[in-house]
Amino acid sequence: MASQLYRAPEKGARQQALINDQQVELHKAAAAHYLRTDHDGLVQGQVDHTLLVGHRVRTSPEELEALKLEFGTEQLQLEKCPVCQRAVSHGKFGVDHIMFYAAGDGDKKTRKVRSTPRIWCSPCAKAHAKRHRKPYLRSRAEESLRDAWRGFVVKVRADQGQDVEGAPARAAPGNEATAKLWAWLGKVLVSKDFCVFAKARFRVTDVVCSGDVDLEKRSFEVLMHITYKAFTTLVTGEEIACAGASVVGVRFCDDTVTTAIKAGSARLGGAVDATLTDRALQKTDLVGKIWTKKAAPKLVVGRLGDLRAKARKLVGGSSAGK
Ligand SMILES: [Zn+2]
Repeated sequence: MASQLYRAPEKGARQQALINDQQVELHKAAAAHYLRTDHDGLVQGQVDHTLLVGHRVRTSPEELEALKLEFGTEQLQLEKCPVCQRAVSHGKFGVDHIMFYAAGDGDKKTRKVRSTPRIWCSPCAKAHAKRHRKPYLRSRAEESLRDAWRGFVVKVRADQGQDVEGAPARAAPGNEATAKLWAWLGKVLVSKDFCVFAKARFRVTDVVCSGDVDLEKRSFEVLMHITYKAFTTLVTGEEIACAGASVVGVRFCDDTVTTAIKAGSARLGGAVDATLTDRALQKTDLVGKIWTKKAAPKLVVGRLGDLRAKARKLVGGSSAGK
């Protein structure tokens, strides 16, 4: 029978099908949330419109149709700028994060976040960048909305420790100074050794940077997507493996360095006995907090050392303009 011969390709095909299923699930979930037909008793709360710096996107009626089909809904408003609601066919790539809370929760604590792609019109994107004092970049190549969204999904999955379709979508540095900075950040932060904080041990496993050095303004704002591994133990002695991700921003502006550690997420990094699940998940939450409060300040910010001296060198030592 031919089945023997075809065993290997079949396996590959099945794996591919699984990835597609996951993508469909994600699209379906996002659509369900827009439609307020979410299945776990969650209610749609606020929507956070985020703008991804430096991504120009363009779409077409055909692509919008295809995206709506993929998401399974007409209600995504993909053709409107999320800020001014004007019709858009090109602009800056943004992502809407839709928060959900449990029905009846007075505090409206976020239980779930779902994301969908958006196109910001250029005036709104510019105004936003200005308001938030973010760099406004216009030199990058243009992508289709669908490609930008796919890149985003792959990156989120990678941050969650799922290696989908190979390596995560890494942005290309916009200039040589940026390439140097990113390479240096990866080199000083990624470590083979674990460090102990509050009875958990951590190590940074990967750093993916975005944000360019602005040589003209002699400034930069780099966002580092950091993934880490951690181990901790339950009071009863069982070891719990965790994996987490968080974003640390480094900004150099007016000759001053500022850093910001954003709370990330931690998840179980290995199999846990069913009877331990609750406690293991609690520990995992705790590990995420220890990361943000204790480990990240030391393992990320602390390891950057004298960043000001480094930053001055990067943006060019010229004192002619000053
Ligand atoms: Zn707009």
